[in-house]
Amino acid sequence: MKAVLLKNFGGPENLEHAEFWDPVPGPGEVVVRVRACALNHLDLWVRQGIPAYKISLPHILGCDISGEIASTGSDVDALKTGEKVIVSPGNSCFRCDYCLKGQDNLCLHYGIIGADGGHGGYAEYVKVPFRNILPSPKDLTFEEAASFPLTFLTAWHMLITLGNLKPGQTVLVLGIGSGVGIAALQVAKLMGAQVIATTTSESKLEQAQKMGADHLILSPPEDLLKKVIRMTEGQGVDIVFEHIGPATFDKSLRTLKKGGILVTCGATTGPNVELDLRYVFSRELKILGARVGTLTELKNICGLLAQGKFKPVVDKTFPLKEAKQAHEHLAGRKHFGKVVLINKD
Ligand SMILES: [Zn+2]
Repeated sequence: MKAVLLKNFGGPENLEHAEFWDPVPGPGEVVVRVRACALNHLDLWVRQGIPAYKISLPHILGCDISGEIASTGSDVDALKTGEKVIVSPGNSCFRCDYCLKGQDNLCLHYGIIGADGGHGGYAEYVKVPFRNILPSPKDLTFEEAASFPLTFLTAWHMLITLGNLKPGQTVLVLGIGSGVGIAALQVAKLMGAQVIATTTSESKLEQAQKMGADHLILSPPEDLLKKVIRMTEGQGVDIVFEHIGPATFDKSLRTLKKGGILVTCGATTGPNVELDLRYVFSRELKILGARVGTLTELKNICGLLAQGKFKPVVDKTFPLKEAKQAHEHLAGRKHFGKVVLINKD
Protein backbone atom coordinates (compact mmCIF):
# COMPACT_ATOMS: atom_id res chain seq x y z
CA MET A 1 0.00 0.00 0.00
CA LYS A 2 0.94 3.66 -0.22
CA ALA A 3 1.60 5.41 3.08
CA VAL A 4 3.21 8.57 4.38
CA LEU A 5 6.26 7.43 6.34
CA LEU A 6 8.01 9.43 9.00
CA LYS A 7 11.59 8.34 8.42
CA ASN A 8 13.40 10.82 10.69
CA PHE A 9 12.19 13.17 13.43
CA GLY A 10 12.12 16.85 12.53
CA GLY A 11 10.35 19.13 10.07
CA PRO A 12 7.57 18.27 7.59
CA GLU A 13 10.17 17.41 4.93
CA ASN A 14 10.65 14.12 6.81
CA LEU A 15 7.22 12.88 5.67
CA GLU A 16 7.68 10.65 2.65
CA HIS A 17 4.91 9.19 0.46
CA ALA A 18 6.16 5.67 -0.23
CA GLU A 19 5.33 1.95 -0.43
CA PHE A 20 4.79 0.09 2.84
CA TRP A 21 3.71 -3.41 3.76
CA ASP A 22 -0.02 -4.16 3.76
CA PRO A 23 -1.38 -4.67 7.29
CA VAL A 24 -2.94 -8.10 7.97
CA PRO A 25 -5.53 -8.45 10.76
CA GLY A 26 -4.73 -10.85 13.58
CA PRO A 27 -7.21 -12.15 16.17
CA GLY A 28 -9.41 -9.33 17.49
CA GLU A 29 -8.18 -6.96 14.80
CA VAL A 30 -9.61 -5.20 11.78
CA VAL A 31 -8.03 -3.55 8.76
CA VAL A 32 -9.73 -0.35 7.69
CA ARG A 33 -9.42 1.14 4.24
CA VAL A 34 -8.63 4.72 5.22
CA ARG A 35 -10.70 7.27 3.32
CA ALA A 36 -9.85 10.28 5.48
CA CYS A 37 -7.49 11.05 8.34
CA ALA A 38 -7.66 14.36 10.19
CA LEU A 39 -4.53 16.02 11.52
CA ASN A 40 -3.97 17.06 15.12
CA HIS A 41 -1.22 19.09 16.77
CA LEU A 42 -0.22 15.78 18.31
CA ASP A 43 0.98 14.73 14.82
CA LEU A 44 3.33 17.71 14.72
CA TRP A 45 4.74 16.88 18.18
CA VAL A 46 5.32 13.23 17.24
CA ARG A 47 6.90 14.23 13.94
CA GLN A 48 9.29 16.50 15.82
CA GLY A 49 10.24 13.60 18.12
CA ILE A 50 9.12 14.78 21.56
CA PRO A 51 10.28 12.30 24.23
CA ALA A 52 6.77 11.60 25.61
CA TYR A 53 6.07 9.37 22.62
CA LYS A 54 8.47 6.49 22.20
CA ILE A 55 8.09 5.23 18.66
CA SER A 56 10.36 3.46 16.23
CA LEU A 57 10.93 4.62 12.68
CA PRO A 58 9.68 4.46 10.03
CA HIS A 59 6.33 5.38 11.52
CA ILE A 60 2.86 6.24 10.18
CA LEU A 61 1.11 9.17 11.91
CA GLY A 62 -2.59 9.92 12.28
CA CYS A 63 -5.24 9.02 14.89
CA ASP A 64 -8.48 10.53 13.52
CA ILE A 65 -9.56 7.99 10.95
CA SER A 66 -12.68 7.25 8.91
CA GLY A 67 -13.04 4.64 6.20
CA GLU A 68 -14.47 1.24 5.37
CA ILE A 69 -13.84 -2.22 6.77
CA ALA A 70 -11.40 -3.94 4.40
CA SER A 71 -10.78 -7.22 6.24
CA THR A 72 -11.27 -8.72 9.70
CA GLY A 73 -9.46 -11.18 11.96
CA SER A 74 -10.72 -14.76 12.08
CA ASP A 75 -12.63 -14.20 15.34
CA VAL A 76 -14.25 -10.89 14.33
CA ASP A 77 -17.60 -11.67 12.75
CA ALA A 78 -19.74 -8.70 13.77
CA LEU A 79 -18.29 -6.36 11.14
CA LYS A 80 -18.99 -6.50 7.41
CA THR A 81 -16.53 -5.64 4.66
CA GLY A 82 -17.33 -2.24 3.17
CA GLU A 83 -19.07 -0.96 6.32
CA LYS A 84 -18.52 2.79 6.83
CA VAL A 85 -16.73 3.35 10.12
CA ILE A 86 -15.00 5.76 12.48
CA VAL A 87 -11.94 4.59 14.44
CA SER A 88 -11.58 5.35 18.15
CA PRO A 89 -8.14 6.94 18.55
CA GLY A 90 -7.19 5.39 21.92
CA ASN A 91 -5.72 1.91 22.44
CA SER A 92 -6.36 0.49 25.94
CA CYS A 93 -5.82 -2.96 27.43
CA PHE A 94 -9.30 -3.29 29.04
CA ARG A 95 -7.67 -5.44 31.76
CA CYS A 96 -5.83 -3.03 34.12
CA ASP A 97 -7.44 -1.44 37.18
CA TYR A 98 -8.14 1.83 35.38
CA CYS A 99 -9.76 0.05 32.44
CA LEU A 100 -11.87 -2.12 34.75
CA LYS A 101 -13.12 1.05 36.46
CA GLY A 102 -14.17 2.46 33.09
CA GLN A 103 -11.26 4.91 32.92
CA ASP A 104 -9.69 3.34 29.84
CA ASN A 105 -8.21 6.73 28.87
CA LEU A 106 -5.94 6.33 31.94
CA CYS A 107 -5.01 2.74 31.03
CA LEU A 108 -1.54 1.66 32.16
CA HIS A 109 -0.88 0.55 28.58
CA TYR A 110 -2.66 3.43 26.85
CA GLY A 111 -1.50 4.53 23.44
CA ILE A 112 -2.88 6.77 20.72
CA ILE A 113 -3.07 5.29 17.25
CA GLY A 114 -0.51 6.98 15.02
CA ALA A 115 1.50 8.06 18.06
CA ASP A 116 2.47 5.53 20.74
CA GLY A 117 -0.39 3.15 19.87
CA GLY A 118 0.87 1.71 16.57
CA HIS A 119 0.80 2.88 12.97
CA GLY A 120 -1.89 5.41 12.11
CA GLY A 121 -4.06 6.65 9.29
CA TYR A 122 -1.66 8.47 6.95
CA ALA A 123 -1.97 5.42 4.72
CA GLU A 124 -4.31 3.51 2.44
CA TYR A 125 -4.95 0.93 5.17
CA VAL A 126 -4.63 0.78 8.96
CA LYS A 127 -4.89 -2.15 11.38
CA VAL A 128 -6.75 -1.49 14.67
CA PRO A 129 -8.40 -3.54 17.45
CA PHE A 130 -12.02 -4.40 16.54
CA ARG A 131 -13.32 -2.69 19.67
CA ASN A 132 -12.04 0.63 18.28
CA ILE A 133 -14.50 0.43 15.41
CA LEU A 134 -17.62 2.59 15.59
CA PRO A 135 -20.33 3.00 12.95
CA SER A 136 -20.12 6.23 10.94
CA PRO A 137 -23.33 8.18 10.28
CA LYS A 138 -24.30 7.64 6.63
CA ASP A 139 -24.93 11.32 5.87
CA LEU A 140 -21.45 12.43 6.91
CA THR A 141 -18.63 12.72 4.40
CA PHE A 142 -15.47 10.76 5.21
CA GLU A 143 -13.61 13.99 5.95
CA GLU A 144 -16.33 15.15 8.33
CA ALA A 145 -16.33 11.76 10.08
CA ALA A 146 -12.53 11.86 10.47
CA SER A 147 -12.80 15.34 11.95
CA PHE A 148 -14.93 14.08 14.82
CA PRO A 149 -13.33 11.56 17.22
CA LEU A 150 -10.37 13.12 19.04
CA THR A 151 -11.58 16.70 19.33
CA PHE A 152 -15.23 16.05 20.21
CA LEU A 153 -14.31 13.25 22.62
CA THR A 154 -11.77 15.50 24.34
CA ALA A 155 -14.18 18.44 24.52
CA TRP A 156 -16.97 16.22 25.89
CA HIS A 157 -14.67 14.65 28.49
CA MET A 158 -13.45 18.11 29.58
CA LEU A 159 -16.75 19.96 29.76
CA ILE A 160 -19.29 17.29 30.64
CA THR A 161 -17.45 14.49 32.45
CA LEU A 162 -14.80 16.55 34.28
CA GLY A 163 -16.34 20.04 34.27
CA ASN A 164 -19.89 18.84 35.03
CA LEU A 165 -21.20 21.66 32.82
CA LYS A 166 -24.83 22.62 33.44
CA PRO A 167 -27.36 24.60 31.38
CA GLY A 168 -27.02 28.34 31.98
CA GLN A 169 -23.38 28.18 33.04
CA THR A 170 -20.73 30.16 31.19
CA VAL A 171 -17.64 28.71 29.50
CA LEU A 172 -14.60 30.62 28.25
CA VAL A 173 -13.30 28.73 25.19
CA LEU A 174 -9.79 29.74 24.22
CA GLY A 175 -8.54 29.27 20.66
CA ILE A 176 -11.97 28.84 19.08
CA GLY A 177 -10.59 28.22 15.58
CA SER A 178 -8.91 24.97 16.53
CA GLY A 179 -10.63 21.62 16.11
CA VAL A 180 -10.98 21.17 19.86
CA GLY A 181 -12.21 24.77 20.32
CA ILE A 182 -14.98 24.27 17.75
CA ALA A 183 -15.92 20.99 19.43
CA ALA A 184 -16.05 22.72 22.83
CA LEU A 185 -18.35 25.39 21.42
CA GLN A 186 -20.75 22.77 20.06
CA VAL A 187 -20.70 20.66 23.23
CA ALA A 188 -21.31 23.73 25.43
CA LYS A 189 -24.17 25.01 23.26
CA LEU A 190 -25.78 21.57 23.16
CA MET A 191 -25.71 21.63 26.97
CA GLY A 192 -27.42 25.04 27.01
CA ALA A 193 -24.40 26.96 28.28
CA GLN A 194 -23.20 30.44 27.34
CA VAL A 195 -19.93 30.57 25.43
CA ILE A 196 -17.33 33.32 25.38
CA ALA A 197 -14.95 32.59 22.49
CA THR A 198 -11.46 33.98 21.98
CA THR A 199 -9.17 33.75 19.00
CA THR A 200 -6.55 35.75 17.15
CA SER A 201 -8.46 36.62 13.97
CA GLU A 202 -11.65 38.52 13.21
CA SER A 203 -12.72 36.02 10.54
CA LYS A 204 -12.51 33.12 13.02
CA LEU A 205 -14.62 35.10 15.50
CA GLU A 206 -17.23 35.69 12.78
CA GLN A 207 -17.37 31.95 12.10
CA ALA A 208 -17.62 31.21 15.83
CA GLN A 209 -20.51 33.64 16.08
CA LYS A 210 -22.32 31.90 13.23
CA MET A 211 -21.90 28.64 15.14
CA GLY A 212 -23.55 30.08 18.23
CA ALA A 213 -20.84 31.73 20.36
CA ASP A 214 -22.55 34.27 22.62
CA HIS A 215 -19.61 36.62 23.20
CA LEU A 216 -16.43 37.17 21.19
CA ILE A 217 -13.01 38.42 22.24
CA LEU A 218 -10.16 39.11 19.83
CA SER A 219 -7.04 37.82 21.57
CA PRO A 220 -4.56 38.13 23.06
CA PRO A 221 -6.14 40.99 25.01
CA GLU A 222 -4.41 42.65 27.91
CA ASP A 223 -7.83 43.27 29.37
CA LEU A 224 -9.28 39.74 29.06
CA LEU A 225 -10.41 39.78 32.69
CA LYS A 226 -12.17 43.14 32.33
CA LYS A 227 -13.97 41.99 29.19
CA VAL A 228 -15.07 38.67 30.69
CA ILE A 229 -16.26 40.35 33.88
CA ARG A 230 -18.35 42.78 31.82
CA MET A 231 -19.78 39.98 29.65
CA THR A 232 -20.74 37.95 32.74
CA GLU A 233 -22.20 40.90 34.64
CA GLY A 234 -19.48 40.86 37.25
CA GLN A 235 -19.60 37.10 37.86
CA GLY A 236 -16.69 35.50 35.97
CA VAL A 237 -17.04 32.19 34.16
CA ASP A 238 -17.85 28.73 35.54
CA ILE A 239 -15.38 26.86 33.32
CA VAL A 240 -12.28 27.83 31.37
CA PHE A 241 -11.60 25.50 28.43
CA GLU A 242 -7.81 25.70 28.13
CA HIS A 243 -5.48 24.05 25.63
CA ILE A 244 -3.06 26.85 24.80
CA GLY A 245 -0.69 26.93 27.80
CA PRO A 246 1.53 29.78 28.99
CA ALA A 247 0.23 32.33 26.46
CA THR A 248 -3.23 32.29 28.09
CA PHE A 249 -3.17 30.20 31.29
CA ASP A 250 -2.72 32.81 34.03
CA LYS A 251 -5.04 35.37 32.43
CA SER A 252 -7.77 32.87 31.76
CA LEU A 253 -7.55 31.40 35.29
CA ARG A 254 -8.35 34.86 36.64
CA THR A 255 -11.63 34.97 34.71
CA LEU A 256 -13.08 32.13 36.83
CA LYS A 257 -15.72 32.82 39.42
CA LYS A 258 -15.07 31.48 42.93
CA GLY A 259 -15.13 27.69 42.90
CA GLY A 260 -14.72 27.68 39.11
CA ILE A 261 -12.93 25.03 37.07
CA LEU A 262 -10.08 25.37 34.60
CA VAL A 263 -9.77 22.20 32.55
CA THR A 264 -6.81 21.73 30.24
CA CYS A 265 -5.90 19.23 27.53
CA GLY A 266 -2.97 20.82 25.76
CA ALA A 267 0.04 23.08 25.78
CA THR A 268 0.45 24.40 22.25
CA THR A 269 2.54 27.39 23.46
CA GLY A 270 4.74 25.39 25.85
CA PRO A 271 4.61 23.21 28.98
CA ASN A 272 5.33 25.65 31.85
CA VAL A 273 2.93 28.27 33.21
CA GLU A 274 2.93 30.96 35.92
CA LEU A 275 0.58 30.16 38.78
CA ASP A 276 -0.19 32.22 41.88
CA LEU A 277 -1.22 29.56 44.40
CA ARG A 278 -2.75 32.16 46.72
CA TYR A 279 -5.24 32.98 44.01
CA VAL A 280 -6.12 29.29 43.58
CA PHE A 281 -6.71 28.41 47.24
CA SER A 282 -8.36 31.65 48.32
CA ARG A 283 -11.00 31.29 45.60
CA GLU A 284 -11.22 27.48 45.78
CA LEU A 285 -10.46 27.11 42.09
CA LYS A 286 -10.08 23.68 40.52
CA ILE A 287 -7.48 22.92 37.86
CA LEU A 288 -8.15 19.64 36.05
CA GLY A 289 -6.18 17.79 33.43
CA ALA A 290 -7.88 15.86 30.63
CA ARG A 291 -6.48 13.05 28.53
CA VAL A 292 -8.72 12.43 25.53
CA GLY A 293 -11.74 10.48 26.90
CA THR A 294 -13.09 6.97 27.27
CA LEU A 295 -14.43 4.56 24.66
CA THR A 296 -17.85 4.66 26.34
CA GLU A 297 -17.93 8.46 26.06
CA LEU A 298 -17.00 8.23 22.38
CA LYS A 299 -19.80 5.71 21.74
CA ASN A 300 -22.26 8.05 23.46
CA ILE A 301 -21.26 11.12 21.48
CA CYS A 302 -21.25 9.13 18.22
CA GLY A 303 -24.93 8.58 19.00
CA LEU A 304 -25.39 12.35 19.27
CA LEU A 305 -23.43 12.80 16.03
CA ALA A 306 -25.80 10.39 14.28
CA GLN A 307 -28.73 12.49 15.55
CA GLY A 308 -27.20 15.58 13.93
CA LYS A 309 -26.38 17.27 17.25
CA PHE A 310 -22.77 17.93 16.18
CA LYS A 311 -21.32 19.23 12.95
CA PRO A 312 -17.60 18.54 12.45
CA VAL A 313 -15.96 21.44 10.63
CA VAL A 314 -13.42 20.75 7.89
CA ASP A 315 -11.06 23.61 7.05
CA LYS A 316 -9.19 22.05 4.14
CA THR A 317 -8.46 18.65 2.61
CA PHE A 318 -5.20 17.48 1.07
CA PRO A 319 -4.49 14.27 -0.89
CA LEU A 320 -2.53 11.75 1.21
CA LYS A 321 0.67 12.37 -0.75
CA GLU A 322 0.57 16.06 0.27
CA ALA A 323 0.92 15.35 4.01
CA LYS A 324 3.90 17.70 4.15
CA GLN A 325 1.81 20.63 2.86
CA ALA A 326 -1.02 19.67 5.26
CA HIS A 327 1.40 19.82 8.21
CA GLU A 328 2.61 23.24 7.09
CA HIS A 329 -0.99 24.45 6.80
CA LEU A 330 -1.82 23.25 10.34
CA ALA A 331 1.35 24.77 11.78
CA GLY A 332 0.49 28.10 10.11
CA ARG A 333 -2.53 28.41 12.45
CA LYS A 334 -4.73 30.08 9.80
CA HIS A 335 -7.24 27.22 9.80
CA PHE A 336 -10.78 27.19 11.17
CA GLY A 337 -11.66 23.55 11.69
CA LYS A 338 -9.82 20.38 10.81
CA VAL A 339 -7.12 19.79 8.23
CA VAL A 340 -7.73 16.39 6.64
CA LEU A 341 -5.83 13.98 4.40
CA ILE A 342 -8.02 12.09 1.95
CA ASN A 343 -7.62 8.93 -0.12
CA LYS A 344 -9.52 9.11 -3.38
CA ASP A 345 -10.30 6.05 -5.50
ZN1 LIG B 1 -5.85 -0.80 30.77
